[in-house]
Amino acid sequence: MKHPAEWRQVGIIAVYLGLLASMYLVPWCRNPLFFCGACYFSFLNTVVIHNHLHQGVFKSRTLNMVFRAVLSFGALYPASANIPSHNLVHHHFDDDGQPDWAAPEHVSFRWNLLNLIHFPNVAGPNTFAGVQRWAALAGRAEFRRQYMFENAVAFGLTGALLLLDFWTALFFVVLPQLYGARCILRINLIQHDGCDVSTEWNHSRNFVGRAFNWIMCNNGYHTIHHNRAGLHWSALDAAHDREVAPRIDRSLDERSMIAYLLRTYVLHFFRPARRNVAAAEARAGGAQGSALPALPPREVRRAEAEAASA
Ligand SMILES: [Zn+2]
Repeated sequence: MKHPAEWRQVGIIAVYLGLLASMYLVPWCRNPLFFCGACYFSFLNTVVIHNHLHQGVFKSRTLNMVFRAVLSFGALYPASANIPSHNLVHHHFDDDGQPDWAAPEHVSFRWNLLNLIHFPNVAGPNTFAGVQRWAALAGRAEFRRQYMFENAVAFGLTGALLLLDFWTALFFVVLPQLYGARCILRINLIQHDGCDVSTEWNHSRNFVGRAFNWIMCNNGYHTIHHNRAGLHWSALDAAHDREVAPRIDRSLDERSMIAYLLRTYVLHFFRPARRNVAAAEARAGGAQGSALPALPPREVRRAEAEAASA
């Protein structure tokens, strides 16, 4: 393993697969507690996909590729899809003139809750159509082989479970798998809606609760992750406090994701009015700004996000 913190990610996946196996094999485990736990850990499985596809967990390339296939089974989509869809397209926003396949602007209901519910139905097909186009380009044969391998493991194993015991597999394996996949698509909306992607420090919303970030492997710190994509996830909390906190609009540094979701999608009907979030970093650019760590240009940051993950 490259980093001792990776044990947390491997542990999360072991718990998740353990929950799925228990429900599939032991009738007593088919209860709401195990089911909700499996759904939550399925979402965490997609968080691990995100981290692993930025920086492989293992030193061995073979192990990294096998781990991608295990994670693909957990999410019922090939983990390597993250390379084009997330590392290349999302991390660029629309700097390169190409639209982000999962930009918040893809949904525009007046009732904001519908935006959250519907978002995966737009972002999912958009993403997979884009991944297909990208994978078909010349020079991507190795990617295509790995992508096929992950598809074969994810759908082959799920298909075998369905053949052996259809309803048990559908309810206690496939539903949790789909829950995680749909939630990670929604995260794009949650982390960027109302932000200003043309700014350097106010393009993303952060969730900074410490316990939340322990289980989420620091995926609440999204601004610093965009700005320094090469930084290991275990270092994001300190970097956020040092670099992001002084420059970000208060409204983009949320303590709790649950409180944010309730406030934004349940307790309010309309999508919140846009704030001028860029003003915060303009203010910090003054006397205080000069003492803060500087940010490399966007081209350098893009190259960092594009660096191979394994
Ligand atoms: Zn990322």
